[in-house]
Amino acid sequence: MPAKQRKIVIMGFRAVGKSSLVIQFVENQFVDSYDPTIENTFEKVVHYRGQEYLTQLVDTAGQDEYFLMPQSYTVGIHGYVMVYSVTSMKSYDVVKVIYDKLLDQLGANKVPIVLVGNKRDLHMQRVVTLEMGKKLASQWNVAFVESSAKQNEEVTPFFQRVLQEIEKHYGTQEES
Ligand code: GDP
Ligand code: MG
Repeated sequence: MPAKQRKIVIMGFRAVGKSSLVIQFVENQFVDSYDPTIENTFEKVVHYRGQEYLTQLVDTAGQDEYFLMPQSYTVGIHGYVMVYSVTSMKSYDVVKVIYDKLLDQLGANKVPIVLVGNKRDLHMQRVVTLEMGKKLASQWNVAFVESSAKQNEEVTPFFQRVLQEIEKHYGTQEES
């Protein structure tokens, strides 16, 4: 059976580790400096419940509270990964703004989203608690995980989780 295609957009404030997470997932390596301005789409074939999925991961250059949601982020997209860093309160605040703008643009009140608090290895610099992440995710009613792209902790599981959320949302009949 041909692979189903799933397109996922990775959003969040700058320097939270979006590219690091994607590259860790796709290439199994941690790159210490990746051009923060590049927007790139990465592809990886993932097996989930006996089905092959071609996942296309749109690694965005990052957003701030003033950004305008481009159509390319809302049309033909199956799911979203919203990333903040546990070391940055600003990134936690920005992810809320991004979420509001996204839902506004989509005109839907439920889309497959996974909220990710990255850089959990940086214990000394942590300013966003685990509870704050959980609270936000439960407000949104979405899945949540804290990860470390650097230590490769929880990276593969949450990308799998996005697929799971997408399948829940779209069901099994839809083929595109
Ligand atoms: P992006 O702008 O959101 O794509 O962020 P990057 O992936 O470019 O990462 C920004 C900086 O944070 C880089 O210096 C990364 O090496 C670093 N970084 C990313 N993820 C982690 C992590 O989980 N732990 C630590 N300690 N550093 C990270
Ligand atoms: Mg980046």
